[in-house]
Amino acid sequence: MSAPANVMVVGAAGRMGRAIARLLAEGAEPSLRLAAALDRPDCPDLGADMGALAGTPPAGIPLAADFDAAVRDAAPAVAVDFSFHAASAALAPRIAAAGIPWVVGTTGLAPEEQAAVRDAAQKIPVVQAANMSVGINLLEALVRQAALALRGRGYDCEIIERHHRHKKDAPSGTALFLGKAAAESYGWSLPDVATDGRSGLVGERPAEQIGFHAVRGGDFVGDHTVLFAADGECLELTHRATSRDTLALGAIRAAAWLAAGRAPGLYGMADVLGLETSR
Ligand code: NAD
Repeated sequence: MSAPANVMVVGAAGRMGRAIARLLAEGAEPSLRLAAALDRPDCPDLGADMGALAGTPPAGIPLAADFDAAVRDAAPAVAVDFSFHAASAALAPRIAAAGIPWVVGTTGLAPEEQAAVRDAAQKIPVVQAANMSVGINLLEALVRQAALALRGRGYDCEIIERHHRHKKDAPSGTALFLGKAAAESYGWSLPDVATDGRSGLVGERPAEQIGFHAVRGGDFVGDHTVLFAADGECLELTHRATSRDTLALGAIRAAAWLAAGRAPGLYGMADVLGLETSR
């Protein structure tokens, strides 16, 4: 068997970064091993051993902030990035220049930040997904299918998501991912029909609208419900993540898929999981 491929985790001191480091240390994916751990220059954990941060035995990999040094010393075969929208956008040209396949889990990217990721994907293979769990990606396929069947029949689509109190962006990237699936099956463009919550005298709900409702509090890992409400019935499709590990394991699976060798391009979890979609 060939040696495991080196993984660089970006945002390694964060919730997702630590989970990925722990799962790699526990052997969740034998074809990969943690080789470098990066975070922001003012992160208070810089210099700490990644094993200590991840709650595993010492890894011999200190948390660092110098991208070039990490690339030089660890020769990563793939990078897994769960950091911050501006950080991922800033990383895009550097990681493309370094030729490192990139898993982008970070959400909340503004259009120009997303353009930076797309540009990078012309030079390197990139897997980007607002939610890396298998269940959510199946839900997306089901939402597409449901919306196709309900299109033009008076079913109002609304999306409700719940996340922990620390989440910084809203609505969640996953909610937007699901909303895009519904909008496309309805024949709409999501930016034209999306509305965030409702407040005040907003008037009657227009038919061509998808409402997003973001609940924040406690320690919800991530709940998403897509509902289709008509006169006389309501269909609700719900996914509940109960452990962040399901997201981290999806990212690790995406990293292993990239490390196996892919052509430059922007891929999604449907590609990694080999899911048939109606796109
Ligand atoms: P977190 O705040 O716990 O961790 C983010 C980490 O990124 C922090 O340690 C922070 O210091 C670091 N960071 C910030 N700027 C950086 C920079 N310039 N360079 C390197 N590191 C930097 O957040 P989290 O819960 O781990 O989530 C991180 C991101 O991933 C968010 O955008 C979140 O929405 C997204 N997320 C995506 C999925 C998915 O399945 N795609 C799942 C969970 C979270």
